[in-house]
Amino acid sequence: MLIPYRPEPYPDFNQPEPRAKMLEALKLVESQLGRSYPLRIGGKKVETSAKIESINPARTEQVVGSVSKAGAEEAMAAIAAADAAFTSWSHTPPDVRARYLLRAAAIIRKRIYEFSAWMVYEVSKSWIEAYADAAECVDFLEFYAREMMRLGGSQPVTPFPGEENELRYMSLGVGVCIPPWNFPFAIMAGITTASIVTGNTVVLKPASTSPIIAAKFVEVMEEVMLPPGVLNFAPGSGGAVGDLLVDHPRTRFITFTGSREVGLRIFERAAKVHPGQIWLKRTILEMGGKDCIVVTPSADLDAAADAVTWSAFGFSGQKCSACSRLIVDEKVHDVLVQKVVERSKKLTIGNPTGPENYFMGAVIDKAAFAKINEYIEIGKKEGTMVLGDAKPPSGGFYIQPTIFTGIAPSARLSQEEIFGPVLAVIKGRGFDDLLNIANGTEYGLTGALFTNDRAELERARHDFHVGNLYLNRKCTGALVDVQPFGGFNMSGTDSKAGGRDYLQLFMQGKAVTERL
Ligand code: NAP
Repeated sequence: MLIPYRPEPYPDFNQPEPRAKMLEALKLVESQLGRSYPLRIGGKKVETSAKIESINPARTEQVVGSVSKAGAEEAMAAIAAADAAFTSWSHTPPDVRARYLLRAAAIIRKRIYEFSAWMVYEVSKSWIEAYADAAECVDFLEFYAREMMRLGGSQPVTPFPGEENELRYMSLGVGVCIPPWNFPFAIMAGITTASIVTGNTVVLKPASTSPIIAAKFVEVMEEVMLPPGVLNFAPGSGGAVGDLLVDHPRTRFITFTGSREVGLRIFERAAKVHPGQIWLKRTILEMGGKDCIVVTPSADLDAAADAVTWSAFGFSGQKCSACSRLIVDEKVHDVLVQKVVERSKKLTIGNPTGPENYFMGAVIDKAAFAKINEYIEIGKKEGTMVLGDAKPPSGGFYIQPTIFTGIAPSARLSQEEIFGPVLAVIKGRGFDDLLNIANGTEYGLTGALFTNDRAELERARHDFHVGNLYLNRKCTGALVDVQPFGGFNMSGTDSKAGGRDYLQLFMQGKAVTERL
């Protein structure tokens, strides 16, 4: 019998032991930089002449590693390999499938500092953000394994005289897993293992800016001896192979996390039935956000300022849940802004692969750097910059925490996802106004409310239209099966990853009746 699931604890990097372990792991990873990783198709390693190079965003001349790059031929071969492995894998008992995840979780937990260090290099996460990502990966594996054991047998139905009735969950078929780079371990492994543990076989196409941590995960799944063809690894450009994988008639479902733009594209393409296709494809799409923290006059302003600073600038604002809007009542606007600015000024920024344990690293790549800076220019026209003119470090894609006040609710800074360390402060008057502003975007992922008014807290539970609502705490940092995660409206299909309804999305129910 397994012990009950509980989230992995986090270390305190101010303590000597975790600090020493992280420094050791960073050194180990440094000694392995620059290696090349093959595709995995039907259990075989496949090398291609085309490669994707992964670059350290904090030191752009440093190559973290490279992966072989799937083109159309390899993408099709990966689907065929998954298809060939499906019958045998879907007949593998659910408990047996779950054990592969438990074993992989044990390996990752043992080497958690090492996997964290890979993310420090590959996507410039701070130590604690990288550790939290790796810990969430372990959580997903542990939780989904237990969930499959729970859902593997006959499900309860109402007994009926003269019949034996049962409902079972069956696998779907070949899945295409397309994760983003910002949780390159947790989300990548989460969507992949949810697909696999439910008896499906998959093609995993990682984000092109974070393929190395995905290759490391694939090595772990090989170490636990997952049968060939169950997990096929096909890094490739989303623009070049994404459509092919999504459109393929043997693709049964697509699980995607990423931008609204690409999510909508997949949604539309998956709706088209191609020759030879005998099902309606299922899509599990988790997309962007324009998340906010709302602060009323009765709130604890110090607690609110701490939460805003962490939620806006942790991992340089590159979280789907990041606070990109602070919506504050005019009565406390000036004092709260001052507190947020004071705190944000103290945040440290630099290359997190060194011994300094900076709060923020660099943003992911040149395109993100250019896009965020464009929004900063837009912000200068739409409002007043109250923080952000300090010179960033050189050598990488660094952007300082940036705050604009005087932003209108309809401004571009209030409506469009920036995905960087840029906070728009919007002033409101009274709770109705604050709530209308909060709900006034096409997204609905996370939101937080700081207030000490009971009636406002109760109203927010119903009327603050987000998939993940936090009352008197920050709007980032959801834990597996503590805060199942997923958003409303253009934030996606509200699949609630890390929740108890999640695995059913990867299966279909079969009701069987035998006349007695
Ligand atoms: P992205 O640009 O949409 O990319 C996500 C994935 O889609 C990547 O693997 C990408 O591959 C692939 N892709 C690109 N074009 C494709 C196509 N035509 N067909 C199929 N796949 C394609 O997003 P991102 O920049 O990686 O991630 C940031 C976004 O993710 C933000 O909007 C953030 O809010 C969102 N996000 C949401 C959640 C959530 O739970 N709601 C969680 C995390 C992140 P390439 O890398 O090769 O282009």
